[in-house]
Amino acid sequence: MNLSFKKIKDKVLDVVFPDDLRCLLCGGELDGQEVFCSRCLDIDIFNEGTRCIYCDAMIKDDNTVCDFCRDNHHLFEKCFCPLNYNGIVRKTVLRLKEDNAKYLAKGFAKLIYDRLADENLKIDFIVPVPSHISMIKKRGYNPALLIANELSLLMNVPVCEALVKNAKTPNQKFLDYKDRFANISSTMQLIDGKTIKGKNILIVDDVITTCATVDACASLMKKAKHIYACAVARTNLF
Ligand SMILES: [Zn+2]
Ligand SMILES: [Zn+2]
Repeated sequence: MNLSFKKIKDKVLDVVFPDDLRCLLCGGELDGQEVFCSRCLDIDIFNEGTRCIYCDAMIKDDNTVCDFCRDNHHLFEKCFCPLNYNGIVRKTVLRLKEDNAKYLAKGFAKLIYDRLADENLKIDFIVPVPSHISMIKKRGYNPALLIANELSLLMNVPVCEALVKNAKTPNQKFLDYKDRFANISSTMQLIDGKTIKGKNILIVDDVITTCATVDACASLMKKAKHIYACAVARTNLF
């Protein structure tokens, strides 16, 4: 194939079927694979192996609960994250968060859907982690809501935007989990307690690191029956 024609063809495919015909991570040809090309499948992209039964973090020993969850009680029951947040996964998630690559939400939602498939959860509402209005204006959208909407179609479960973020979160860089949790909780508010009361909730975020954000969301929805959380990727803490 003539090289310039191939380049044009690639560009057309990117616009028309960016998430179906190209690798979700590198945008390369799928070479017979689904979702990820074989080059990306060779890298350590999946959050798999021995993982904490609460926060889904990888564990190096034979324990079922990670050191972090042994010391910190979560307000959700379990969280699910299909990918590891590093390398090309981090780059791709940042493209959804900061680079207007909204089409990625569909592929990411499918990965979460597949991860949840064996769990037999009964979910009544999907609740996205809210974004502050200044971030929504800057990005044009809330990435967590985009993923929640795609997940809603796959799971046939409605989205409930039960939470809002009233203020930006102050810089969290040097804070521990407890201070992060206090910081984030103080910026959010429950605006639809009626809908979620007594229901099974799945909180959706793009990335989970210390779980402070999803715990803060869960702390505002105490009247829900069961609360689970999910995200595209998990930062490896250990
Ligand atoms: Zn790839
Ligand atoms: Zn854990």
